[in-house]
This record gives sequence, C-alpha cells and structure tokens, in this order.
Amino acid sequence: MTKDQSIKISEIFGPTIQGEGALIGRPTVFVRTGGCDYRCSWCDTLFAVESKYRHDWMDMSAEEVFQNIQKLSGDKPLMVTLSGGNPAIQPLGGLIEIGQALGYQFAIETQGSVAADWFSKLDVLTLSPKPPSSSMVTDYNRLDDCIKAAGSKPQIQMKIVIADEDDFAYARNMAARYPHIPMTLQPCNLSASKDCPDQAALMEKMRWLVEKANAEYWYSVTILPQLHVMLWGNMRGV
Ligand code: SF4
Repeated sequence: MTKDQSIKISEIFGPTIQGEGALIGRPTVFVRTGGCDYRCSWCDTLFAVESKYRHDWMDMSAEEVFQNIQKLSGDKPLMVTLSGGNPAIQPLGGLIEIGQALGYQFAIETQGSVAADWFSKLDVLTLSPKPPSSSMVTDYNRLDDCIKAAGSKPQIQMKIVIADEDDFAYARNMAARYPHIPMTLQPCNLSASKDCPDQAALMEKMRWLVEKANAEYWYSVTILPQLHVMLWGNMRGV
C-alpha cells in the first residue's frame, strides 16, 4: 500500500451506539478519520479537523483499520460508522470491501461536499449538509454528485442540525429539493466545545423544533435529540 492510499485516522472506538440520525440506538464501532474541508462554527470534533491536531492522527492501511474494528467488536459483525472530519476525503473503499466480505456493514456521515467513488459500496449514506449557523455554504452541485456517486445500493438519509429559524428554513428547502430522501433534524449542540453540554438548552431547542415542525404540518420529518450527548455529555470516544 502506498502512502497515498493510507487512511488518516483520528480515533477508532466502540462498540457504542449510534447517537443520532436514522440509525440512532444501533450498536456500532466508530472509525473517525482526520481532516475536513469544512470549518463549521460549532464543530464538535475539531480534534479530527484542524491541522494542529494532525500529529495525533495515524496513517493506517485498510487492513490495520479493520483489525481494530474486529478487535473492538469481538470478531462479531456489526454496523461500522465512518465519521470525521470528512471521511469522504479518505480512501475507504478497500476497508468497506474487507469488512463486508465478513458480514460487517458500513455507514458514513458526511456533509456532502466531496463525492467518493466508493460511496456505491456503502450500506448507508448519511448526508449531513451544514445549515447557515455553521457559517458554511452548501454547494448543491456537489451534494447532487454525492447522491449520484452512491447509486442505488446504499440507503440514503439526510440529517440536519438546527440552531435557529434560518437553519429550519434551510432544512425545509432541502426537504423540498430532495423529497425522496428521509430527513432527520436534531437540535444543535452549541456548547459542544465545553466540558458539559447545556442539557436544558438542548431540551428547550428540541421542544421548539417539534412544535415548529408540527405548526407547519411537516409530518415527513423525524426529530431526534443527540442520544450520546444525553447519556455522556460532550465526552469523547463514547
Ligand atoms: Fe466539523 Fe463536520 Fe463541520 Fe467538518 S463538516 S468542520 S467535522 S462539523
């Protein structure tokens, strides 16, 4: 394997449960890759984004990453979640092939800014486009490219974090643009950089979100809290 094909890994941990989106509550091992093309204002994983943390990231082969997954999962197949950073910028096709041959499934979480050819091998593609409060701007052509790259195999889901009215309007537009893709909303954890999240503020935002969607008769959407934040706060590696 050449250096170019090695995977930048920030951390591999689990088994835990998926804390958000359509797979919420599902046992999983997380593979968090290092590096991201975005810089969201409320990013909760800066240690997997900013180059100043680069010395903590490991260059690993697909085989090495999979050995870690097998060890953590007790050799028993489960859903592996590829997260980041932006995992779409890493060469993960080989890892997916190795794992699927032994019964593992693979889900990715990505903002939809980079389309990888190996998206078509995934079991679940969760697109998490970033709303205005992130200070990022969505390139819809790139988002379309991600959906095209996935093709027909993976289940495609969308997940959007909501901090305010503008974010809600963004999610409404997104749902109108992609009516065939199931969408989940979750309140934005604005205290992600602190040791403890503001659980009361998160619950208040959750109630606001439920009431707002219902007031607009938006019934095709699913609204969920971040389960791992409820259970473990802002703790890393759970
Ligand atoms: Fe952080 Fe995700 Fe935004 Fe990248 S896309 S900066 S990992 S929140």
